[in-house]
Amino acid sequence: MKLITYTQQGHVHIGAVQGDGVVDLTAVAPNMLTLIEMGADGLAQATAVLQAEGTAVPLHTVHLRAPIPIPRRNVMCLGLNYAAHAAESYSARGQATVIPTAPIVFTKATTAVSGPTDPIPYDPAISTEIDWEAELGVVIGLAGKNIPTAAAMQHVFGYMVINDVSARDLQMRGKQYFKGKSLDGHCPTGPWIVTRDELPDPGNLRVTCRVNGVTKQDGTTSQMIFDIPAIIAYLSRGMTLLPGDIIATGTPQGVGFARTPPEFLRPGDVLESEIEGIGVLRNPVNGNR
Ligand code: MG
Repeated sequence: MKLITYTQQGHVHIGAVQGDGVVDLTAVAPNMLTLIEMGADGLAQATAVLQAEGTAVPLHTVHLRAPIPIPRRNVMCLGLNYAAHAAESYSARGQATVIPTAPIVFTKATTAVSGPTDPIPYDPAISTEIDWEAELGVVIGLAGKNIPTAAAMQHVFGYMVINDVSARDLQMRGKQYFKGKSLDGHCPTGPWIVTRDELPDPGNLRVTCRVNGVTKQDGTTSQMIFDIPAIIAYLSRGMTLLPGDIIATGTPQGVGFARTPPEFLRPGDVLESEIEGIGVLRNPVNGNR
């Protein structure tokens, strides 16, 4: 299933994409977090609604929001989880590459989360070094603590595309990433959550990022240093993962700040983030809003 949160005539709904249409699932759950918390029962009820033909409206007539518009807590992010990206990052700072031997984890504020076509705010008084990081997003379904690697995938609800948009000037200025990773609109997500059953091998998906149609990143999730089971096992050690938690699994090489010369987003640019088997985010860079 491709599960969406959408606005139609001013009302927020959840639904499922079926062909070119949208089937309303608001009767199953009032919002995506509740649907995720319902677990297998929620998905069974959603499947029943879809099979009962439903009342599909054309997909192009609804406005897609972030699948989880207001996450319960911060988006958890892996840093330097692709070796070639780690190498480009150290090289850009004139340092020798250090491949992480343990996951590097930081978070993005819930208020950074935005939808698949939402503009990325641009205010040069705040940052002039806005950069891209296309990533596979994992949404947790079943809560768990101390999850063994072998059982980790059972805790996955589904997947979405994320861009871990980064204000490099803010990120590099401090000793923590949080501020530079958390500006409003700096976490486009979606366009939908593809449920786990529809994507049996998330460890081999092409990840691409384009700026104004020019490919900047082209990698595959098979290049992750710590794969999804390893990430879930690590994060859940002594810390409960909750339904609806979002994990951004790291980005392949090709980010802007590591290019020669460095490249950053400018007003009017269009940032596209795509993952094979999931879909595309298309976010324009705006001025103030
Ligand atoms: Mg990232």
